[in-house]
Amino acid sequence: MPSPRVVCAAALLLLLPLFVAAQNQPVEIAFTVAMTRPHTHLFEVDIDIKRPTNGPTEERLVLPVWTPGSYLVREFARNVQDFTALDAAGQPLKWEKTNKDTWRVVTNGAREWHAHYRVYANELSVRTSELNSSHAYWNNANILMYLDGFLKSPATVHVLAPDVWKVATGLPAVLGQKNTFRAENFDILYDSPFEASNFKTLIFNVKGVAHRIVIDGEGNYDAERMRRDVQKIVETEVELMGGEVPYRDYTFILHLRANAGGGLEHLNSASLGYPRFGFRIERGDRATSAGPNTTDTPQRDYRGFLALVSHEFFHLWNVKRIRPDVLGPFDYTQENYTKMLWVAEGITDYYADLALRRAGLVTENEFLSATARSIQSLQNTPGRFEQSVEESSFDSWIKYYRQDENSVNSQVSYYDKGAILGLLLDLEIRKRSNGAKSLDDVMRYLYKQFFKQDRNYGPMDFQKACELMAGSSLDEFFRRFVHGKEELDYDAALGAAGLRLDTNAPAMPTSTTTTTTGAAADRLFFGADIAQEADRLIVRRVYAGSPAYEQGLNAGDEIVALDNLRVTRDFFNTRMMEKKPGELVNLTIFRFDDLSTLLIKLGDRRQGTFRIVPLTTQTPAQKQIYKSWLGN
Ligand SMILES: [Zn+2]
Repeated sequence: MPSPRVVCAAALLLLLPLFVAAQNQPVEIAFTVAMTRPHTHLFEVDIDIKRPTNGPTEERLVLPVWTPGSYLVREFARNVQDFTALDAAGQPLKWEKTNKDTWRVVTNGAREWHAHYRVYANELSVRTSELNSSHAYWNNANILMYLDGFLKSPATVHVLAPDVWKVATGLPAVLGQKNTFRAENFDILYDSPFEASNFKTLIFNVKGVAHRIVIDGEGNYDAERMRRDVQKIVETEVELMGGEVPYRDYTFILHLRANAGGGLEHLNSASLGYPRFGFRIERGDRATSAGPNTTDTPQRDYRGFLALVSHEFFHLWNVKRIRPDVLGPFDYTQENYTKMLWVAEGITDYYADLALRRAGLVTENEFLSATARSIQSLQNTPGRFEQSVEESSFDSWIKYYRQDENSVNSQVSYYDKGAILGLLLDLEIRKRSNGAKSLDDVMRYLYKQFFKQDRNYGPMDFQKACELMAGSSLDEFFRRFVHGKEELDYDAALGAAGLRLDTNAPAMPTSTTTTTTGAAADRLFFGADIAQEADRLIVRRVYAGSPAYEQGLNAGDEIVALDNLRVTRDFFNTRMMEKKPGELVNLTIFRFDDLSTLLIKLGDRRQGTFRIVPLTTQTPAQKQIYKSWLGN
C-alpha cells in the first residue's frame, strides 16, 4: 500500500499539467505608479491584468517580504493601505488577505481585472522607499505586487510623476510611451529601483556603453572629479573581469543627505547613499567600508565614497551574475538561506579596495594601512571564535542585520572576515601558482563557467575554482578558516608578497565619537566602547574576556564619575591615558536608575597598532607577486 505521501505526490502530478498551462498562458501585467499628493508619502499603485482567454476563478497578489541584496525580512506589506480589486466593468471583486503579504481576489475567470492600493513610503535607504514633496525613490519590491505563479512574466511600469520631475531607472523605456518602462520578468523588475526628481546627471562612456550618475541632493562633491574617478573604477573592474561590459547601460542613483549611507547592488544599476558633506579630499589613514553599518561612521571622506561605488559596482558580477546557490531566481515570501555571503559580500569588499588601488585612486600605503586596520578590527572581535563565516552568512537574516550590544561577542561579519579571506586566498593562489594565477582568475572562471552557462555556484564549486587556480588542494584552508573558526594565519599569506603583519606599531588616533579605551600606545586594556550621547557617557559594548567585561561593566551603563570626579568623554579619555596596566579605576555608574560603583583593574593589551610592513629581505618572486597584485 502506498504511503499517504506517495498518494499526494500522484495527485500533484495529475494537477501539474493544469498548473503548467496556467504558468504558460501569457498574461499582460501593467503597473501604474502615481504620486498625485507627494507630501502625503502615498504612492498610488494600479495593476492591470489581461489575458487572451478566461483566467482562473481566483488569483493571489503577493508583495515581497524582502528585497534582494539586503538579507532581512522587512514585511513591506505593512505599508499597504486602501486595497481594492475591480473587474473590467469597474465592478468590485471580492477579496481577502490570506496571510501577511497575500491578497486573494475572486476574479471569477475574468480575462481582465485590476487592483488598486496605496503604499506609504517615508523611509529613505537603499532598500526602502521615500516619497515627499522634493522627490520619489522606490524599490519595486516595496510597492509592486506580483501575481502568484507569474514571476517569470514580463511587466510594464508607467510612472505618473509631477511634470517638473525626471525619471531614472535601469529598466529600458518603452518607445513612444512617456515614462513607461519594461521588465522581462519580476526578478528584473524587483532589481530596478526608480528615482523621480529634479536630479543632476553626470554621464560617461566605457567601451561605448553609456553610464550615468543620477544625484539627488546637494553636497560638497567636485562633479568633474567624481565623473572621472567613477569612470576609472568602472574601467578597472571591467578589465579585471575580462574586458566584457555585460549590460546595455548602467545607472548609479546617489542620494546625498546629512546622514545617508549604504549601497545596494543591481544588474545594471546601484543605489548609493552618502553623507552630503562626506567628499572632503584627504590623504593618510581613514577607515572606509560599505555595508549596513556605514551610517554610524560620522566622518567620511572622498575615499569612502569611491569605496562604496567600487563595492556596489563589483557586485554586478559577484552576486548579480556570479550567483551563489539560492540567490536568484528568488523566493520573495521568506528568507533565502546561503552560506556564501562571505564570497558575495566579503570578496566584493576585498575587490572594492583592490580596484581603487589598481585604478590609482589610493596609494599602496593607503591600501596596506586599510587592510591592516581591517585585520586589527577582526582580531579585536571576540565573536570570531563563536561563528564561522559560513554560519555568519547563513544567519544574516537574524544576526548581521539585527545587531545588538552582544554582537561583537557572538558574531563575525561576513563582510569583514570575508574580505580578509579574499586577501588570504588571493595571496595563497599567487604563491602556489608561482604568480601565474590569482583570485582574479577564480572570479573570471566563475563568470564563464557559471553565469555564462546559466548556473548558480555552491560552496564546493567555489573551493574547486580556487584549487584549480592554485594547482593544489585548499581543503585545509577551507576546513580551518571557512567552515571553521580558527585564528587566521596572516603572515603565511602576506609572506607571498614579501610582507608581514607588525602587531606592535605605534598607536594611531582613535575615532572621535567612540573610544576603545586602551587602544593607545600605552597598551592599556579596558575593553569597552564608550560614546557620548547628549550630555551622558554611555557604554555601547563590552568585549568578552576584557577587564571591563570580566569585572562587571555592562553595555548601557552610564558612567558619571571616574575616581570620584564627574566625567565628560574628553576627561575620561585623558585620565585613562594616564593610567598604567594593573592600576585600579573607580567608576561611578548609573545602571538603569540605580547608582553604584565599580572597581576595575586595568589590563595589558600586549599589542599595539597593526601595520603591514615589508620583510627585511625579499626574493624576486615575492617582489613580482607584490607588483602584479597591487597593479603597478
Ligand atoms: Zn555589498
